[in-house]
Amino acid sequence: MDQQFLFPLDGDNNPTYQILPRVFNEFFYNGERYVFLIGNNRQRYICLLMVDGNEIKLYGDEWGRFIEDNVPPHVTTLHFVKEAETTFYVTGYTDFGVEGPGYERRDVGNRLSRCLVRCTHGGQILPGDFLQNIWKSVFKIYANGLRFRVNHERVQLNMESVVRSNRLFGNGWERLVTDLEIADGQLMVFTNLGDNKLNLALFFNNGRCMHEEVVLPTMLRIPPRAIAPYAIQDKRAKHICCWKGHNSHNNENDVFYVELDGTVTEFYHLTVPTDYCEDHLMHTYGKALLVHNHQMVTFNVKVIRDRSRPGRINHVKLTGNWRKFGERCGFNHPKMMRFKLINTIGQIVEGEEIQVAVFHVC
Ligand SMILES: [Zn+2]
Repeated sequence: MDQQFLFPLDGDNNPTYQILPRVFNEFFYNGERYVFLIGNNRQRYICLLMVDGNEIKLYGDEWGRFIEDNVPPHVTTLHFVKEAETTFYVTGYTDFGVEGPGYERRDVGNRLSRCLVRCTHGGQILPGDFLQNIWKSVFKIYANGLRFRVNHERVQLNMESVVRSNRLFGNGWERLVTDLEIADGQLMVFTNLGDNKLNLALFFNNGRCMHEEVVLPTMLRIPPRAIAPYAIQDKRAKHICCWKGHNSHNNENDVFYVELDGTVTEFYHLTVPTDYCEDHLMHTYGKALLVHNHQMVTFNVKVIRDRSRPGRINHVKLTGNWRKFGERCGFNHPKMMRFKLINTIGQIVEGEEIQVAVFHVC
């Protein structure tokens, strides 16, 4: 599955529009009208896409705002990281490979800093003070599921300046270059994972990332930005995942959205959308196990039948103490909840086997 791509920022036509690279058309585009872009400010921008012949462009007010708020003038390369369906975290680099300002630790929250370099054989210089004042002589580098121990030293490239850079070298570095078949000049993005660990992502010349990584959703800032008018009916636009490190966003299969509001908590039930019930045979379940981070609560699945038309199922409701559940999960009202069916388990209740639907709720 493709997750990441790099491309040059079009300095002439931005913030009006940006033509996306071919890699986007081939591996990421699903015919959607807009994409969710997340900036370093941890806000979401719902940016319109325009298909213009063979080209796909980002354009419109939201894209303009995104650039204005998140991309400083000296950024020349943009890096899109897919963290959920049609959702990308976007960062950028200067010509020297330094991640754009605004990405300092205190601004990024749980995001970590990155740099972009081209591979040089016989040791690798990382730009600026990417690793800040770390004098550790060995770093662990993770790439494509492999781990390498690489020597590290601080180097003073310019004798006139006190600024020091970082150099990776030694047998470990040579083995990494050989094992991963990295070509001279190949694009590489290092992410500082902290604790003397680096992650390495390799890119083809067309900007496509070569390997898969574990990508978790950004914890979006609350309150969110106003939703663009064209996305106002889109429940995804109202949802904010508040489960740190949640890993079930890579697709929207088996997902429904319902708002937790006063009606749900007052009447102790939540109605599952009808088409979802039909597709997922919700009436065949006796219970639902709702999981949010370390919280696990069992709700009853109640089938409401239409008395005037026997055999017809009108609604399926999840009944239980929604107020308590919301409080335990830290949901603030009104909260657009996302339910993803992740498993079905059998359970014996009073000698009878019932099916339990296990949902991730965030
Ligand atoms: Zn989530």
